[in-house]
Amino acid sequence: MKIGFHISIAGGFQNVIQRALERKCETVQLFSRNPRAWKYRALDKEDIRLFKKGMEQVQISPLFIHMPYLVNLASSDKVLFQRSVDSLVVEMHRAARMNAHFVIMHIGSSPDEEKGLRSMTKGINRAVQRANNKIILLLENTSKSGHELGYAFTQIKEIIDGVKQNRRIGVVLDTAHAFAAGYPLHTKHGVARTMAEFDEIISIDRLMLVHLNDSKAELGSCRDRHWHIGKGNIGKGIGYILNHHLLKDKPFIMETPRKNLQDDLMNLRMVKKLLQRK
Ligand SMILES: [Zn+2]
Ligand SMILES: [Zn+2]
Repeated sequence: MKIGFHISIAGGFQNVIQRALERKCETVQLFSRNPRAWKYRALDKEDIRLFKKGMEQVQISPLFIHMPYLVNLASSDKVLFQRSVDSLVVEMHRAARMNAHFVIMHIGSSPDEEKGLRSMTKGINRAVQRANNKIILLLENTSKSGHELGYAFTQIKEIIDGVKQNRRIGVVLDTAHAFAAGYPLHTKHGVARTMAEFDEIISIDRLMLVHLNDSKAELGSCRDRHWHIGKGNIGKGIGYILNHHLLKDKPFIMETPRKNLQDDLMNLRMVKKLLQRK
């Protein structure tokens, strides 16, 4: 099992290497651009060269690129839909240039669930065909806040089934999102049931990454509040997740709150501790 963190790209991609080493990352996740804006700058050739060289030297892999938050392929607004498709194509190209393996996208939101899911499928089909590279697109489950879709495994399955090149589609399971959406990950039985359900509905082979986050929000609260490992409402459930047999070969990335490096090291220590306690 590989463990890593979401790493900041402040000051250039080449700075990621040092930050990843300080946190003993075996795998990392990055934004390739400002996650809260549509505008972006082209990748800087020299920066990318240094980044790729560094990543190879320290042998950190796989590399996950997280999409900006503004995209919404489920939107019924034509302009926003088109912008989202374009943005996904751009991201898949950027990811390939960075030697990334995966692009992660939150499943969009729509007040009309069925229409929204159909729109997601349509958008993914277009983007995947246009980008036409080796990048695997990962759909991330949501906490069901607002009109977010993809809070239930059945919805994720419905999207995947509608994608023509569905070998290029995988899933990210965010534990804080699943818990807020009502999956009882705080108990041993709940973790077992949730993972069995995931395998039955989606298939565990589609799972390419676990976002390992504890939750400050309560079970079924539909609120997305990441918290420190073992200190939130999932609590010791994190241990059951880490030691679940279906997850033993999956990469785990934390998106836990961070004021400084010490916060990350504390969460990493907690993960190691929970992993040993079978
Ligand atoms: Zn996440
Ligand atoms: Zn989240």
